[in-house]
Amino acid sequence: MIEFKHVNKYFGSFHVLKEINLTIRQGEVVVIVGPSGSGKSTLLRCINRLETITDGELVVNGVPLHNKKIDINRFRREIGMVFQHFNLYPHKKVIDNIILAPVKVLGMSNAEAREKAMTYLNRVGIGDKADSYPSQLSGGQQQRVAIARGLTMNPKIMLFDEPTSALDPEMIGEVLDVMRSLAHQGMTMVIVTHEMGFAKEAADRVIFMDEGRIVEDATSEDFFKQPKEERARTFLSRLL
Ligand code: ADP
Ligand code: MG
Repeated sequence: MIEFKHVNKYFGSFHVLKEINLTIRQGEVVVIVGPSGSGKSTLLRCINRLETITDGELVVNGVPLHNKKIDINRFRREIGMVFQHFNLYPHKKVIDNIILAPVKVLGMSNAEAREKAMTYLNRVGIGDKADSYPSQLSGGQQQRVAIARGLTMNPKIMLFDEPTSALDPEMIGEVLDVMRSLAHQGMTMVIVTHEMGFAKEAADRVIFMDEGRIVEDATSEDFFKQPKEERARTFLSRLL
């Protein structure tokens, strides 16, 4: 589903991603961890082409992203992304936030988009909030709207960049629950998070990044039991 081969990326003269080799299969749940500034967000953003790679090969969902001629809008439809800040339109109701892209980008009818939106709102547990405005919702509820919005596009891959980092502690669990249930339904997911408990139980694999490199790529079980790399061990010991 996602394959990085010898990928490098520079911001000007700054070498942000170094020789990235990474393969993610359909249905896999991969958590990316590592210190701030290690390149986690940049790597994630390369997957939906919010950032372009400098060299190497990157194939996502069968599309070679290193080839500059691809139809980027068509490609992006199949990838959902959830950010730390939910990026909902404040002047639109929840339901209208969700149906915007399916109607505009996919050409779904209003009725079909609404029906789908309600299905996903119910699935994330806030079907009763369809006619509320974002400001009337808690942070955790807003993030669940953002996830429902992503799902309404029928994505093949969901990317999450620190989806719980902006939430009050008591709301983190409800968002992680939604992600956990998506994982169980077989969605291919790549998640940057500091929630080690979630990584431990929900991830198939954990990738540890440091200074632009993948330092460790292990099953979740192996990673938490005994990380091979000293840097990963130090990182974990500071968190746990
Ligand atoms: P992480 O998500 O692991 O904290 P990022 O991928 O956001 O790391 O950033 C990695 C490094 O790249 C940081 O040093 C950051 O300052 C730098 N960086 C990120 N985006 C840009 C950009 N658009 N231009 C220049 N440098 C950037
Ligand atoms: Mg980041």
